Amino acid sequence: MTQDPLNLLVVSSEAVPYAKTGGLADVAGALPLELAKLGHDVILLLPHYRCLGESCRSFRPVCRLNVPTPLGAVDTLIEEDILSVGEGNCRVWTIRNEAFFDRPGLYQDRGTDYPDNLDRFSFFCRATIEVIAYLRTACRWNTHILHLHDWQTALCAVYLKTVCHDRPEVQGAHTVFTLHNVGYQGLFPGEQFEKTGLPLSLFTPTGLEYYGKVNLLKGGIIFADYVTTVSPTYAREILTPEFGFGLEGVLRNRADSLLGVLNGIDIDRWNPETDSYLPAQYSAANRSGKQRCKQALQREFNLPESSSPLLGVIARLTSQKGLDLVAAIIPQLMAMDLQLVILGTGEPELEAKFQVLQARFPHRMGLRIGFDEGLAHRIEGGADIFLMPSRYEPCGLSQLYSLRYGTVPIVKKTGGLADTVFPLTVQAGRATGFHVEEDTAEALLSVVRQAVAVYQDRSVWDQLIEAGMTTDVSWARSANAYDRLFLSLVRGEQPNGSS
Ligand code: ADP
Repeated sequence: MTQDPLNLLVVSSEAVPYAKTGGLADVAGALPLELAKLGHDVILLLPHYRCLGESCRSFRPVCRLNVPTPLGAVDTLIEEDILSVGEGNCRVWTIRNEAFFDRPGLYQDRGTDYPDNLDRFSFFCRATIEVIAYLRTACRWNTHILHLHDWQTALCAVYLKTVCHDRPEVQGAHTVFTLHNVGYQGLFPGEQFEKTGLPLSLFTPTGLEYYGKVNLLKGGIIFADYVTTVSPTYAREILTPEFGFGLEGVLRNRADSLLGVLNGIDIDRWNPETDSYLPAQYSAANRSGKQRCKQALQREFNLPESSSPLLGVIARLTSQKGLDLVAAIIPQLMAMDLQLVILGTGEPELEAKFQVLQARFPHRMGLRIGFDEGLAHRIEGGADIFLMPSRYEPCGLSQLYSLRYGTVPIVKKTGGLADTVFPLTVQAGRATGFHVEEDTAEALLSVVRQAVAVYQDRSVWDQLIEAGMTTDVSWARSANAYDRLFLSLVRGEQPNGSS
């Protein structure tokens, strides 16, 4: 329990169990609850998308707020749900705007971004400022920390420091901006800048302009009081041209206020001892259920129930995840004694490539194109090896699930993958997986060969599994790091150290 309970307003464009397209939702759904467990009073703020109405959650009205926009004030309903898991509970407030959020997707429909995303997320951020004002004036709840996530929320930091700077009812909040992936920056045509409602004087290279475009992430990095990202290695990588996606200079200017804090995972939702998605449960001490999960997974994908190593992939099918490298080595993999199952959706060319390969090797390779939470759990439970050769990976969650499910990860040595998976070369008993050092098909193939060879040595393999399954991948550790950062900011001390 913290000595100093704070009021934390967490703003995200997605969070489980409400709306999810990727790892951000896992983080935004779990971290607020962990911070609440430490004694903080947490409110999570989300857009009220259509899928919230379709979820089993129920909301009650809180208030109506007038949100200023470049086209005039918009009367907006704020609703509330209480999210409660174990000892953690927090309020979840949603911002309703049917024209902007009552749509089939969060950011896009059938692969195409909504053309008015800048209007939608400018509105969301502007509404957040009104929520801060309402909390202070109507609820006597002063926001101590405004915790923002990714480009969709970046304008909150900009509004607070610029157009809303003179409003006493929103002053005093310290803004922390967490970068989950610098590859996604919220870029819009320069002509749309006025949609942000910001003065043109901010559309310059020292402001939100980026080679003639509007760059929301850049705005957040410049105007937030503190910037964090989701692993210590990624915090260093993004200062370089290879990983900074053009923002390395802007980030280097903030290097004194930049910290890498590893994500955790929701160990209740991802627990092989209780996971109801799995056909059999198991623990580190008794793994017999994992064998049954493997057989069931083989059946689910119409693969023979052999004892060869079963490799699993679950990912957005994008080049970031290095899945073109996986596709490139499948013919060689299929000549080895192993099986492969892939779950993913994303770039149409990659989907098509995997479909062609699956049709060629139907008895060794299973493929499911789509998003399927239950199947993701069953792959983590049933596979022997998890493949994650990401070109870059800010933190990555899937390899953490793999550790917890005794599925030995093969990862590219980058970002959070390098920080969470320890290769066989480290001291005996601590190794949990394998590192691929380069972004090449040859490097990946050679590490898979090495892993398959080690798989035959039961005692070494068991050590890898045990070390992984007993690694602490919970949120508790990460929440403590955020807790320390937030308290330092509120006390006016210089935060230090990466976690
Ligand atoms: P990212 O956020 O870059 O997509 P992460 O590894 O941080 O990558 O998180 C991915 C999350 O999304 C994990 O919870 C993973 O299980 C889930 N996921 C990705 N693709 C799918 C899919 N096709 N079906 C179900 N879950 C998926």
